[in-house]
Amino acid sequence: MVYDMTYNPENIFAKIIRGEIPCDKVYEDDHTLAFNDINPQAPVHVLVIPKGAYVNMEDFHAKASDEEIAALIRAVGEVAKIKGMSDTGYRILSNTGEDAHQEVPHLHIHVVGKRDLGRMLGKPKPEA
Ligand code: AMP
Repeated sequence: MVYDMTYNPENIFAKIIRGEIPCDKVYEDDHTLAFNDINPQAPVHVLVIPKGAYVNMEDFHAKASDEEIAALIRAVGEVAKIKGMSDTGYRILSNTGEDAHQEVPHLHIHVVGKRDLGRMLGKPKPEA
């Protein structure tokens, strides 16, 4: 199955950006919003999202301006600093499309830390 790259303005992060539903905000600038994940996988688990309408990294790298791209990456660094992880380390990841099990169809970078995060990837599931 091919992931649908048509942006759906009713996705939950679009509603957060429009202020229709609340979020636990960590950082904001002109192009970017960062907030705590509702189901944290580590003591720190923040989602960094562009305010623009991009489905995922595939969409973002093709269509976003250099300013938006720079803002997103800088925001990750700001979040790490705000959460006190600049020294201890952290992991960033962004699930894009089907194979990565992306759930919310608005680009988001997970920033996790404040525990030993182990190795990068789990083992693949055995073939059925
Ligand atoms: P992904 O599988 O990469 O698409 O991850 C989606 C993430 O969004 C999950 O970690 C969810 O816990 C998180 N999430 C879903 N709804 C909300 C919400 N309203 N506020 C904060 N995080 C959310």
